[in-house]
Amino acid sequence: MELPITGGCFCGALRYQISKQPFGQANCHCRACQHATGGAYAPVLLVPTEAIKIDGEYQEFVSKGDSGHDVTRGFCGRCGTTVFAHTTRVKSMRPVYAVTLDHPEQFTPELNAWVDFAQPWVCLDPDLPKYQRDLPAEAAGLQPPPHRR
Ligand SMILES: [Zn+2]
Ligand SMILES: [Zn+2]
Repeated sequence: MELPITGGCFCGALRYQISKQPFGQANCHCRACQHATGGAYAPVLLVPTEAIKIDGEYQEFVSKGDSGHDVTRGFCGRCGTTVFAHTTRVKSMRPVYAVTLDHPEQFTPELNAWVDFAQPWVCLDPDLPKYQRDLPAEAAGLQPPPHRR
């Protein structure tokens, strides 16, 4: 993707800039993302934590993710748009909700994650890999487990 990647909430009070290529791009079907977006799943950029700069005020909501770890979602207190998340499981990566990009058409999903929780009325692209639960390590910027190297 062309850098920097920019975006923000619906009303513009919360803006961000991303200065490095994302580790990956995924559709997340976990229940928390469904609630956060009000949609069937969340298209997310998986961004290196140090590469995102956030301007403006936001509120956070912490919940237990389907992984059992705390998942914090950052949203605009004015318009309610969920913009990013972070988890206690992977501190080096932040999911950024792709609909908040200034150019959301740049988003190119590479996989579907947490499909165990996918709604029966959603169509999954048969050409994309499916992960029943969490993302593969590489997509979160982590080393793959030894048996897969
Ligand atoms: Zn807003
Ligand atoms: Zn999710």
